[in-house]
Amino acid sequence: MQTNNPLVLFPYWISVLLLLLTNQVTASVLPRAEPVPGGVALVALDGHSRKAPRVEYEGRRIMVLRDRERWVAVVGIGLGAKPGEHHINLLHEGGNSTYPFTVRDKAYETQHITISDKRKVNPNKLDLERIGRERKLIRAALDTWEQTPSVPLPLSLPVDGRLSSPYGLRRFFNEQPRKPHSGLDIAAPKGTPVRSAQSGQVVATGDYFFNGKTVFVNHGQGLVTMYCHLDSIAVEPGSRVERGEPIGTVGMTGRVTGPHLHWGVSLNRNMVDPSLLLPEPAPADKSTVRP
Ligand SMILES: [Zn+2]
Repeated sequence: MQTNNPLVLFPYWISVLLLLLTNQVTASVLPRAEPVPGGVALVALDGHSRKAPRVEYEGRRIMVLRDRERWVAVVGIGLGAKPGEHHINLLHEGGNSTYPFTVRDKAYETQHITISDKRKVNPNKLDLERIGRERKLIRAALDTWEQTPSVPLPLSLPVDGRLSSPYGLRRFFNEQPRKPHSGLDIAAPKGTPVRSAQSGQVVATGDYFFNGKTVFVNHGQGLVTMYCHLDSIAVEPGSRVERGEPIGTVGMTGRVTGPHLHWGVSLNRNMVDPSLLLPEPAPADKSTVRP
């Protein structure tokens, strides 16, 4: 035997390499796990069924992806979730199985913003009626479920620009506490193309009081991306879009202090940290300032 001869081993390493490469092509790309409020939990499921099981969290269906030989539930955790034990339910013919997972605490930083249009901080009665109507439309768009065999991941950053506000900031507008920042802000000049973070279908577009001109793209299994404050919208509800395809341009419509994209990522209707679905964590959160 000449097993120490590298020339003999060469074909072996080639086949190992090929196996690794083909495995990478077929296996799902999973988001990074960060089981915190506003994060993502990955829960490995028992059983080897060929068909993806139906799994629910907070009564809502959640994403299930194939990771080599097993199924993994991908749980979008709400920013308001309480740290501690949470659980998901796997529904099957004989009943259901419960899988617990732990949500850790996370301290997000605080941000103070001054908005000159005071109505955008303290809306009048008519504004509040409009906001109420729009909230329902936005919820409906984020609630889209499509049972796709896989989900296109990872996502890509929709705009070339400076990350100006990270996800999760506890916000004060004109010194009044408001909802925490549920997306990622990317500052770029007005008119910069905004590109779909992955392939999908436009589920809704609109022009909203806070979010301004907005596009929602459905990627399947409860993953919906949202692009806000656009100057112009280039797609219509029902349009198919590919990853990187322009869907509009950066603007400053809605409640803003300057031109930027507010990018939201919704998993099972919870807005989660978009950077967990990017190939690498979003860079330089520490050095960023607000737009
Ligand atoms: Zn934002």
